[in-house]
Amino acid sequence: MSLAPHEQAVLDGVPKQLLIGGEWRDATGSGTFEVEDPATGKALCSIADASADDARAALDAAVAAQPGWAATPANERSEILHRAFLALGEQSDELALLMTLEMGKSVAESKGELAYAAEFFRWFSGEALRMDGYFKTTGNGASRVLVMKQPVGPCFFITPWNFPNAMGTRKIGPAIAAGCTMVVKPAQQTPLSMLALAKVLEECGLPPGVLNVITATRSGEVSAPIIADPRLRKLSFTGSTEVGKKLIAQAADQVLRVSMELGGNAPFLVFADADLNAAVEGAMLAKMRNMGEACTSANRFHVHETVAKEFAEKLAARMGALTVGRGTEEKTDVGPLIDAVQRDKVADLVQDAVNKGATCVTGGKKGDGEGYFYAPTVLVDVPDDARVLSEEIFGPVAPIATFSTDAEAIAAANNTEYGLVSYVFTKDLTRAFKVCEALETGMIGLNQGIVSNAGAPFGGVKQSGTGREGGNEGIAEYLETKYVAINV
Ligand code: NAP
Repeated sequence: MSLAPHEQAVLDGVPKQLLIGGEWRDATGSGTFEVEDPATGKALCSIADASADDARAALDAAVAAQPGWAATPANERSEILHRAFLALGEQSDELALLMTLEMGKSVAESKGELAYAAEFFRWFSGEALRMDGYFKTTGNGASRVLVMKQPVGPCFFITPWNFPNAMGTRKIGPAIAAGCTMVVKPAQQTPLSMLALAKVLEECGLPPGVLNVITATRSGEVSAPIIADPRLRKLSFTGSTEVGKKLIAQAADQVLRVSMELGGNAPFLVFADADLNAAVEGAMLAKMRNMGEACTSANRFHVHETVAKEFAEKLAARMGALTVGRGTEEKTDVGPLIDAVQRDKVADLVQDAVNKGATCVTGGKKGDGEGYFYAPTVLVDVPDDARVLSEEIFGPVAPIATFSTDAEAIAAANNTEYGLVSYVFTKDLTRAFKVCEALETGMIGLNQGIVSNAGAPFGGVKQSGTGREGGNEGIAEYLETKYVAINV
């Protein structure tokens, strides 16, 4: 299928080069790679494929811009962010379509992501003005303490394909606010949204060299020299736990500050006293946002045995009624998965569960034509040893298991190396508190299926990562604390 004229026009408007030191330039050796539309498997366009030399040049530019940027008044940094917040809203139609073309989700979902992404600029435009230190007299009265906050320095950001803009603005927003410069490497499957975002920031007055973008197919090769460079001060990564562990090991050499937003395996607990309609509503959000390709996606449903049948029927009716199709079509609820590997992994997990005794109530099949589609799927009677309960699915599949006591539900929820988010549905306040306190996750959706909010600290525990993005905590990741002991 060829692109419609308005789709082609949006693609044509995106820079296809690297952004280094305020200049859009080709990769060394003029290397390029193709970006694919997951709804068709066809190439959308070619863009620059950075080399290790380009990566070093990008860091050089960030290092050169650092002193001037740190000295730029907070009012100016704040105003750039606020202008960018407004610009993302104004350009939402074009940016959403672009995101859908390279990532697959429906345009409505892309618009939702853009609004979420923009909120980080709004939030951190405020935070830029609230970076204060303090002064005090020591306990013995003999000296004074002056505490100041300063930008960490040049940062390196690596982002995933599932939220091509929001996973960037969660890092770029606080870095701009704090006075840090940066190099950003987006995922090779969705680089266009990041290039478009960089253009927006440039148009909003971000000085050359503050934000540098390298797009690349050899991510390890371009990242390693940046991480090994003693001038880099911070690494922030969003992606899989597997890659995150490798990056933490590399960062150890420079004792870099790291923020890691890694994988998840979110449990969704429905207790017998829950409002079942609200739980199904929450489940639709927690499971189907981004076609299940979200780190916060409800990965497994643990439902009290007395309400499991009714919950499964209601959820299957809702999931089965969703329209699967190309994200650019208005009627589409569920777009394609990102690629054939991801689609086949989802199919394997479903097959494994069925082989071990689970029943597929709705869905359970790949799309027939072009593109990487998979039908929204509900599995019931899923046994404990099914891989779908322990591995991150990253697709529109809801496996349902049952429990009989609160202790059993909590133990099942915590039985994972991940600890990003959990969801709890109950009307009993005492139970809600007890369960929330016992859950080993960085975030909990209590009677709601979505936790993402720029004003709240997003992040995980255990192998889901370290550090927080957003909220009062978000800016701290980009600031160093310096203390001066004053002899009076
Ligand atoms: P991924 O394979 O880990 O890739 C993430 C990023 O790392 C991409 O830019 C990728 O580049 C890059 N990368 C891969 N190998 C690298 C290496 N050796 N050195 C440096 N960079 C490397 O993850 P993904 O498949 O894109 O994203 C899905 C994962 O992200 C899921 O596990 C999901 O849970 C997690 N995630 C977590 C959060 C959170 O906030 N906790 C949010 C969103 C997603 P290429 O594109 O070139 O491979």
